[in-house]
Amino acid sequence: MQALLSKIFEDVKPLMGKGKVADYIPALASVDPNQFGIAIFSNEGDLYQIGDADTPFSIQSISKVFSLTLAMKHYGKDMWQRVGREPSGLPFNSLVQLEYEHGIPRNPFINAGALVISDMNQSRFASPHYAMSEFVRRISGNPEIKTDLQVADSEYEFRHRNAAMAYLMKSNGNFENEVEDVLKSYFANCALRMSCVDLAKAFNFLANKGYCTISQEQVISEEEARQVNALMATSGMYDEAGHFAFQVGLPGKSGVGGGIVAIVPGRFSICVWSPALNKVGNSCAGVAALESMSKHIGWSVY
Ligand code: GLU
Repeated sequence: MQALLSKIFEDVKPLMGKGKVADYIPALASVDPNQFGIAIFSNEGDLYQIGDADTPFSIQSISKVFSLTLAMKHYGKDMWQRVGREPSGLPFNSLVQLEYEHGIPRNPFINAGALVISDMNQSRFASPHYAMSEFVRRISGNPEIKTDLQVADSEYEFRHRNAAMAYLMKSNGNFENEVEDVLKSYFANCALRMSCVDLAKAFNFLANKGYCTISQEQVISEEEARQVNALMATSGMYDEAGHFAFQVGLPGKSGVGGGIVAIVPGRFSICVWSPALNKVGNSCAGVAALESMSKHIGWSVY
């Protein structure tokens, strides 16, 4: 595995820095695009890593999987009255569907869906971001995981589109808490800084029927873990979920910080990271690395 990882790393390295770093907030625009890491964690507890796999980065939308997991633990099936499970076919920050679908977002991984999930967690926890931080520290085994407050504040300053979605949902009766409070928790969760190694470990439970080897707890049920993987496979990669299924064939979730998490059910959790993004917001080198890995190892679930 380590030899294969080295080969893939060398093959894909020329793509490092190709594309454009997220620049919708200044704190992300200043990230060095010439970084690239891969970490793979097996269900047996073996870790393989290469490149900048220990460098923490802004997890951004990858946090949506953790928020969903926390909400599922508490609300179970009831939560699906407030958020759908269909791919949106529209950009992740689109408002249009909300208008004609009565404030029910299509899925938990577009921003509107993640905001509803954050609203659920806001109702449940006195401090939702504290609960989230504790959760990711526990399941990754890294008590040092921190939030980048500069990123969180900057996201809040430029919050208008996300605020518009949340207020629209509030007008439809699909939002319980103060919008501004939920936005702050949501942005703080996106601003968590984790490395490829942290994320590969933290996602072990989705490769392992809901059980986390690191914290030795059943995080969610086997059925729920399967459902999260299904949502990642259909809606986890912005407007590229079809291409990703076609080329890689694994449940995946990306974020505009350049991270991508992928799950080989029953076997491995993987995280690749390189900050330069393609047109739809996925890491260029990251997608290429996963394509190459999946092809070499025959990992596709299809
Ligand atoms: N914090 C970002 C936003 O809400 C998430 C971006 C992403 O990774 O998709 O716009």
